[in-house]
Parts: sequence; structure tokens; C-alpha cells
Amino acid sequence: MSAVSPEARASLNHIMSCRNCYAPGSRYCPEGLELHLDALAEFIATRESKHEQHRIYRRERELHPERAERLGELVKARLEAMRGSASDG
Ligand SMILES: [Zn+2]
Repeated sequence: MSAVSPEARASLNHIMSCRNCYAPGSRYCPEGLELHLDALAEFIATRESKHEQHRIYRRERELHPERAERLGELVKARLEAMRGSASDG
């Protein structure tokens, strides 16, 4: 259970209680979609290799092209925040 990130937990909690979100069909309300993409961005940003990050991102872009731009922004923001905190410490 400790492997579940706070972002993934927030996304799951929303989906379980939201009548407009249906994860198996990858259907989300606007709030659910943002939480889903945030969890996905967290997952991608924490992969160890750039190759793996790009592989997952490309797959998502193929499946959901209309979400790719927002996902890209979220991943980029996370990577920058991680770099920032690494150089501070
Ligand atoms: Zn929802």
C-alpha cells in the first residue's frame, strides 16, 4: 500500500465517489481528469530513466491525444520541481 502515491490515492478517491467518472472506460469529469493526469504525471516523472518516461508518455499520447498537452505540462512541472528540490538539498 505504501507504493501508492498521494496523487494516485487522490485520483482513486475521487473516481470511487464520483458518478461522472468511469475509470475502466477512461471517462472522467473535469476534476477527475485533472486528478488522473496529475497521478499519471507523478508516475511518469518518478520513472528512473528518460527512456521509460518517454515510452509511457508516448503511449498515453497515442491513447488520448487530446490529453497529451496537459499531461506534458504536468510532467514538465514535476520534473522541474524535483530538480529544484534536489539542487536545494
Ligand atoms: Zn469525477
